[in-house]
Amino acid sequence: MAETDQPDLMTAEKTDPVLAAVRRVWGYDSLRPMQRSAIDAAIEHRDCLTVLPTGGGKSLCYQVPPLVTGLATIVISPLIALMRDQVRGLELNGYPAAAIHSGVELDDARDILRRLTLGELNLLLVAPERAVNPGFKSFLASLADAGRLGAIAVDEAHCISQWGHDFRPEYRRLAELREVTPKVAMQAFTATATPRVREDIARQLGLREPEVLVGTFDRPNLTYRVRARRNPAEQAAEAVRNHQRAGDGGGTIVYCLSRKDTEWLAEGLTKLGINAEPYHAGLNEKTRRDIEHRFSNESLDVVVATVAFGMGIDRSNVRLVVHATMPKSIEAYQQETGRAGRDGEPAECLLLYSPTDATRWERLIRMNNAEMGADDEATEAQLGLVREMRRLVSSMGCRHRMLSEHFGQTYTPPAGMHSCGACDVCLGETEIERDAKRIGQIILSAVARTGQRYGAAHITDIVRGADTEKIRSTGHDRLTVHGMLKDHRKAAIASYIDQLVTAEALERVVDGHFETLRFGPRGVAVMKGEEEVPLARPVGTGSARSERRRRDRVTDAAPMSFDEKQLFEKLRGVRRDIAVEQSIPPYMVFSDATLRELVRVRPDSLNAMLAVKGVGQAKLDAFGDTFLTALRNG
Ligand code: ADP
Ligand code: ZN
Repeated sequence: MAETDQPDLMTAEKTDPVLAAVRRVWGYDSLRPMQRSAIDAAIEHRDCLTVLPTGGGKSLCYQVPPLVTGLATIVISPLIALMRDQVRGLELNGYPAAAIHSGVELDDARDILRRLTLGELNLLLVAPERAVNPGFKSFLASLADAGRLGAIAVDEAHCISQWGHDFRPEYRRLAELREVTPKVAMQAFTATATPRVREDIARQLGLREPEVLVGTFDRPNLTYRVRARRNPAEQAAEAVRNHQRAGDGGGTIVYCLSRKDTEWLAEGLTKLGINAEPYHAGLNEKTRRDIEHRFSNESLDVVVATVAFGMGIDRSNVRLVVHATMPKSIEAYQQETGRAGRDGEPAECLLLYSPTDATRWERLIRMNNAEMGADDEATEAQLGLVREMRRLVSSMGCRHRMLSEHFGQTYTPPAGMHSCGACDVCLGETEIERDAKRIGQIILSAVARTGQRYGAAHITDIVRGADTEKIRSTGHDRLTVHGMLKDHRKAAIASYIDQLVTAEALERVVDGHFETLRFGPRGVAVMKGEEEVPLARPVGTGSARSERRRRDRVTDAAPMSFDEKQLFEKLRGVRRDIAVEQSIPPYMVFSDATLRELVRVRPDSLNAMLAVKGVGQAKLDAFGDTFLTALRNG
């Protein structure tokens, strides 16, 4: 065929080798904005620091340049499990890659280095402690001298900073790599957005005028919900069942604060007919590996875990993340919820909140820090993070907007929409309290009458008319406000107080271990009824009937017809068979998003299948016929 007879696609690919490689290897037809810039920086030998949220697509940024330049990229990666998965995933795409870590035999490692020198291999993943050993460093130097080294990429680069949440001392030595290969570009990647950590990374790695690329932190495919915690096992079970009914076939992670919590909650779920396993750092290595393995090969769908579960988990179709307790910071929340919907398909994040969560964290932080001899400044910083998190859950603002703003970004709703359409507040799942004005007045009076010296728990007891020892001994049962809000649940009052704090009618004063409430700038006006703070009633504190009405709406956002669901299930079966045969997790064959796209498009030829997002040439060759047959008979 003459050059001019070739289809347009080919011409476009000729002029854009980056896109051509992405299409051929991964079957994606476009790059996300920051990916493009990060890839260009590597190709042009410039240092760069890329900040993208979990699931934002960091790996492509260092995987693509070697395909274009033909030069090697060395990737520093902290976890063996992730390295193995990545290499396996790349191989399935026909992309030669290798990893060197403690599980690799010396001879194999030598062979890998030889292939790198010869240019047969262009991507090597290596653990940080290996990367800085003298032998490896001199190998790198010789690779660079031979003009074969394109870039050094540092994944999870926040591990270098003690201000980050995953400090690893061995990361500190990575600057040594720069010393032995002074001309090679260094690329750092992280999902941690705080400026302090960012600066720390750039300084400690010795990045040279790095281009700093910060992606959008909003995850539009996630729906955030906060519910008052009543019975966590039942509430979590119900959310899991909703997803099972929607037939999304995804996984669920339920995060708990303590090991004990994971155990009783997993037991509670099992009693309710949901097959769930607890996971925490106290289990032995073998049990942990086994659960991780079953979760990623989809023979186990629900894991009840502490935050120890996550770093090594790459299942891309987690459809539900439940927090049984409020996490200790917005950063932690963003990271943990970030494990939902990594395939870009809709997923739900449900946080079960009780006002006691914050107190529990505060106690834990003080205790831990006292044990470790941390200074007051560090303790205060952590307590500040807890308070910010509490503000996020108790305020009735859009969750997407509040999260974005926390990470210093302005939130824009999806095109053509006035709100996010993906949080409980914007979905109208919280009820507006009609009696807000009176409630505000009563709570503020209670604070005023008791001399602005008590905490939220005692104020709640007063207005609910509780008969506690403290109430009797202070004589607060004789106040006129005593019992004036007796029809409201405890959690509702606690939330109103939080909302009054957010609206600056009240302020929290922390004195030692005690937290008391006093008037904020708007306090007097609200108490006198001159101003009104609109209050929302948190879901879970209303009547049973309104709960039930709402429940029906908590379903999957991408509706499939009955036939489509059946075909999707069939393709999942095909995928599972292939996965078992090749001993790989199913998502490595094709993601859920790709299966859904196959159901939607129903390609009837290999060529048509190649146009589906997520189908690259190597996977088409390997699995195309099998899926085509399934689709034809579907
Ligand atoms: P991160 O390392 O930032 O958490 P990954 O690199 O694992 O994220 O990517 C998350 C998911 O997004 C993966 O399934 C990946 O294949 C997919 N992905 C990455 N880039 C693109 C793209 N340009 N188009 C479509 N999907 C992409
Ligand atoms: Zn919203």
